[in-house]
Amino acid sequence: MVDEPAENISGGVGDGGGEVTFDPREAETRAEAVVDELGELYWRKAYGGQDAFECLVRTILSQNTSDVASQPAHDSLMARYGSTDDGTDLARTLADAEQSELAESIRSAGLYNQKSEMIIDAAAEIVGEFGSKQAFDAYVREEDPQTVRERLMAIRGVGPKTADCVLLFSGGRGGIFPVDTHVHRISRRMGLAPPSADHEGVREHLERDVPAEKCGFGHTAMLQFGREYCKARKPACLDGPEACPLYDYCDRVGVDEVEESVVDPAEVVADD
Ligand code: SF4
Repeated sequence: MVDEPAENISGGVGDGGGEVTFDPREAETRAEAVVDELGELYWRKAYGGQDAFECLVRTILSQNTSDVASQPAHDSLMARYGSTDDGTDLARTLADAEQSELAESIRSAGLYNQKSEMIIDAAAEIVGEFGSKQAFDAYVREEDPQTVRERLMAIRGVGPKTADCVLLFSGGRGGIFPVDTHVHRISRRMGLAPPSADHEGVREHLERDVPAEKCGFGHTAMLQFGREYCKARKPACLDGPEACPLYDYCDRVGVDEVEESVVDPAEVVADD
């Protein structure tokens, strides 16, 4: 059993959810077997329970940047707008925020003008439609996931990954496998999705092949695996098969172990 890390691989604190135990049955697909193997490497966590609006803000801040850059921006935003004397909730406070001041507090996340406008617009839209943070939380947790996904994606600046992260980390919804740059790269390298699949194509394959209760862990574990082993420019297997714990499950599309070079899997198809 892998110990719970001091810092959870989902990133951030107060993110809800305890350890999850996987059904020990034989994996029915290679994607499921990969997630099971990742469960041997990383602490298996259940998700859900985060404040939906805060989760949305956190994910907008993380767009096109690293956690290292977005976490201080999130902390600074929460310090400035997260608690008010009269208990006004975050969405209401941000809906009325001065754009230049918000931009200044989230500067470290990059694209701060754009992101501050997106956050204020999202806050105003959510307050206007749902009225309270509790109502928005309940909507994310209980409404049909596809309906929630489409509603969230109608907010300016909210794409599929952001919507899926809110559904997973706040709603705790099963069967949601958010696809970020790591998941997109690893899935196509391993042969879990077609080499030329876009983010939505990869998501469809993973959500089809990984049981609902394993999708959330699969997302965060694959992200961590991408940071530690299957890196964009230098996957671990370039140091030999024993360097990657998932070597036997992987097609290594776009990875040339002899030349010690990598290309995007889509380029392999284009060259055929
Ligand atoms: S064998 Fe190489 S390409 Fe495949 S998962 Fe491991 S590091 Fe990535």
